[in-house]
Parts: sequence; structure tokens; C-alpha cells
Amino acid sequence: MAPITKEADFVVIGGGSGGLGAARRAASQFGVKALIIESKRLGGTCVNVGCVPKKVTFNAAAIAETIHEAKNYGFSVQETAPFDWTTFKTKRDAYIKRLNGIYERNLANDKVEYLHGWATLKSQNEVEVALDDGSTALVRANKILIATGGNPTAPPPIPGAELGINSDGFFDIDTRPKKVAVVGAGYIAVEFAGMFNALGTETHLFIRYDTFLRAFDPVIQEGVTKEYERLGVHLHRRSNLSRVERDPADGTLTLTYVTGDDGTESTVSGVDHLIWAIGRTPAIQGLGLENAGVEVNAQGYVVVDDYQNTNVPHIYALGDVTGRVELTPVAIAAGRRLAERLFGPPEFSARKLNYDNIPSVVFAHPEVGSIGLTEPQAVEKYGRENIKVYKTNFTAMYYAMMDPADKAPTSYKLIVQGPDEKVVGLHIMGLGSGEMLQGFGVAVKMGATKADFDSCVAIHPTSAEELVTLR
Ligand SMILES: Cc1cc2nc3c(=O)[nH]c(=O)nc-3n(C[C@H](O)[C@H](O)[C@H](O)COP(=O)(O)OP(=O)(O)OC[C@H]3O[C@@H](n4cnc5c(N)ncnc54)[C@H](O)[C@@H]3O)c2cc1C
Repeated sequence: MAPITKEADFVVIGGGSGGLGAARRAASQFGVKALIIESKRLGGTCVNVGCVPKKVTFNAAAIAETIHEAKNYGFSVQETAPFDWTTFKTKRDAYIKRLNGIYERNLANDKVEYLHGWATLKSQNEVEVALDDGSTALVRANKILIATGGNPTAPPPIPGAELGINSDGFFDIDTRPKKVAVVGAGYIAVEFAGMFNALGTETHLFIRYDTFLRAFDPVIQEGVTKEYERLGVHLHRRSNLSRVERDPADGTLTLTYVTGDDGTESTVSGVDHLIWAIGRTPAIQGLGLENAGVEVNAQGYVVVDDYQNTNVPHIYALGDVTGRVELTPVAIAAGRRLAERLFGPPEFSARKLNYDNIPSVVFAHPEVGSIGLTEPQAVEKYGRENIKVYKTNFTAMYYAMMDPADKAPTSYKLIVQGPDEKVVGLHIMGLGSGEMLQGFGVAVKMGATKADFDSCVAIHPTSAEELVTLR
């Protein structure tokens, strides 16, 4: 059967955050004939197996914590049954499905053509799409955007590694596990471990060094690691799994792991799920980048300049597949800026995303927020003598009524530079940090100084007020 042939001004491969941002902006603002190709579900990683179902699960975990804490305020909350994971998952899945539908309707409203199938570059201006019904479409495009995101990194080649699941599989778990093991030290591993633990699952977290969240400021790394242990997460430091076996009797897993330099072997058994959360790998396999001569780096990320241009004229890339600040709003913003630059009026011709000072949050227990340089980065960039660090540790007023065992820590750090004390880093850990950081992020992005922070009258009683009264 001859392929269906189509033409478009702008073909976007990948219907995730970045692809949708670019295609919709191009079509709705500038009337561009845009076509988007998605092989799985619209919304990509964030909506289907990332931010959204993760945050909904985090909310469930936060409610579990609140129920536990409620007695400190005089409530007698009797839990008559454990958390009903199955009902929760059914509702969460239905919510995601609704979102998928909204995304599809938004595309139709914006007049973006949508093909469901697998896209392969055939040349510098042709994309072949393997459609669901087995037929193919050949799309000729003036401009092509690669926004294919990433996939969970495959586990190491140890015996039984395949008995584990990855972060996508986390969202398929449909009954409350009794015992889980999470491998990884990045934010995904830490968020999963925190949620499991709060929802009453015995949680083992395997990390290769002494702390996790190692890309974050030391105050965050040390603070959250310590708090996880206090909350009862079984932390296996300096450990590497060496073998995974399934018990034929009850189907649970036994994990053998090596700790420290002396190679001591230990085991954890009775594990319902092993979750590999050891990083993400750019999704370039089977994309046909070689047919168009698109350059990738040693890690497989598509190489782009500040304007999301690849080495091939009229082919662009953005989002996780380019490996720069792998967050949803970053991909969306890069997509919108690109569409504005390519199709907008002349005053948009230099549009690009500024990747400096992007705030990020970890939905850990407690929450973490971070923007700008960590203290080691600031020292390296400006020299210890040119920076000043303001810090505070305290117990949020919410915990004033609680037993010592229920009190969670709060730590804030502000890093300033030069005689005018410009804020170059802000790191916060504690209740509400996720919501709090967005506003402070605006200030940092505007180039605020310590004096600017201090000139803002405190809001009392809040935790955030401590950031404008630091001494
Ligand atoms: C567990 C988890 C939690 C996360 N939590 C957060 C969070 O709280 N906040 C946050 O900002 N970010 C979070 N992220 C990161 C966020 O999901 C990504 O940064 C974001 O989705 C990247 O968008 P993207 O458009 O680059 O790629 P994606 O959203 O991954 O979209 C790429 C799309 O391309 C499709 N595709 C790939 N190859 C092809 C092909 N050849 N043909 C057709 N389609 C193709 C894929 O199916 C996919 O839908 C999380 C990620 C994970 C895994």
C-alpha cells in the first residue's frame, strides 16, 4: 500500500510537554500548519508517568501524614482500614485519561493535526509515521522539531535485574505493597521512597554514596537523607545490588547487595517490588537521526545551541532529549519560545529560553526547593571570599503542638555574592517549600539582593518569613 503523503510547515515529533508547547503556540498564535506525532499518549512523560500521577500520589502520602499528625491537635482519627491503593489508582488513572482527552481536544481547537504512531526521520525534511492500522504516512515538512523526551535508564546487567520495574512501572502498581526496594539517589527515587514510606510500605532505598539528591546543595542532601532515616526509610548507603531472585513460593524478591569497599554481601528478602530509578536516557532509538545527519553527543542527547537549533538547518530539538534541565515547564517554555522565534513577528526573532535560575522542587518528605547555585558551585564560580551564606534551621509552627517524634525539620540557605549581596542561590527544605519557591524564584530571576529580601515585610506567622529576616 502506497504511503499517505502529507505536507506541513512544522512537524513535531513527540506529543509531550515540549512538543505540545511548540505545536500549539505555532498553530494558535501564528496560524502555522502544524502536525504532531505521538506514539504513546498525549501529554508525554509528565502527564502519564511523571509529574502529574506522581503529585497525586504525593498528595495521598501527605494526607496519610496529616492523619497521623492529627492526634497532636486533639483529633481522634481512627483508621479502620489501610490505605486503599487500588481505589486510589483507579481514580488516578481516570484523571490522567481525562487529561489525555483534554490535550487531544486542545490540539483540535488549535487546528494542529495529530497522528498517532511512531515517527522516523527519512531525510532532512521527511518524516515517516508508522500508523496504528499498519499503514504509513510520509510527511514533508519545512521545519521539524524533535521533542521525543527520554526513557528510564535500563538497569545494570546483574542477574535478575529484569525482575525489577522502572519509574513507568511504579504507576502500574495496583495494590499496596508490603515491602519495596528503590534503587537510585535522584529526585525520582527519593520521591518514590518517601511516598511509599508515608503510605505504610516498608521501604528500602539503595544509594551508592552516603547521601542522595547529590545535585542539590549539601544542606538539602544531608537534611533530607537524615530525615528519611528518622522517618523509617531503610537506607542502604554505599551499596550496589549484585543479584535479584524470585521466591517461587510467594513471588517476592530477594535482593543481594554489596556494601562498602570490603565487598560485604547482605540480603533483603520478601520484597514485592524492586524499582530501578537510576536516571533517564534520551529517546533517540529508532528515530532515524542518522538519515537526516542530526548530531548527538556521547550520552545520546541531541546537540542544540541556545536557540534549540540542531546542526541541521530547519531541524530543532528541545526538552529532555537535549538533556538540559529536564523539567516539564522548561520543555514547554523552550517550545513556545521556539515557535515564537520561527513563526512570530520580527521582534520575536531572537526569542530563546534563558536556562539560568530555573527553580526546581523535590516532593520529598519534607519538600525541597532550589534555585541558582549550590554553595560549592558558588565558591567555585566566585571564590569563598566573595560570597556570603545566610542559614537558618528551625521547627515550623505547625509542629509546635506535636510530639517530638512528629516534628519535621526546616532548613533555609541563602547564598549571596559581591558587595551588593546579590542572591545567587536559594535552597529551602521544609513544609510548603514547593509552593514557596515560585514567588522567591521571581525575585531571584529579577536579580534580587539580600537587601531586597529584607525590605519585604515579613508575613507572620509563616515559615517563609524567615527568608526575609535572615541574619
Ligand atoms: C517519575 C517522574 C516524575 C517527574 N516529575 C516531574 C515534576 O514533578 N516536575 C517537572 O517539571 N518534571 C518532572 N518530571 C520530568 C518531566 O516529565 C520531563 O522533563 C518532561 O516530560 C519532558 O518533556 P519532553 O517534551 O521533553 O518529553 P516527554 O514528555 O517525555 O514527551 C516525549 C514524547 O515523545 C514521544 N515519542 C518518543 N519517540 C517518538 C517517536 N519516534 N515517534 C512518536 N512519538 C515519540 C513519547 O511517547 C513521549 O510522549 C518527571 C519525570 C518522571 C519520569
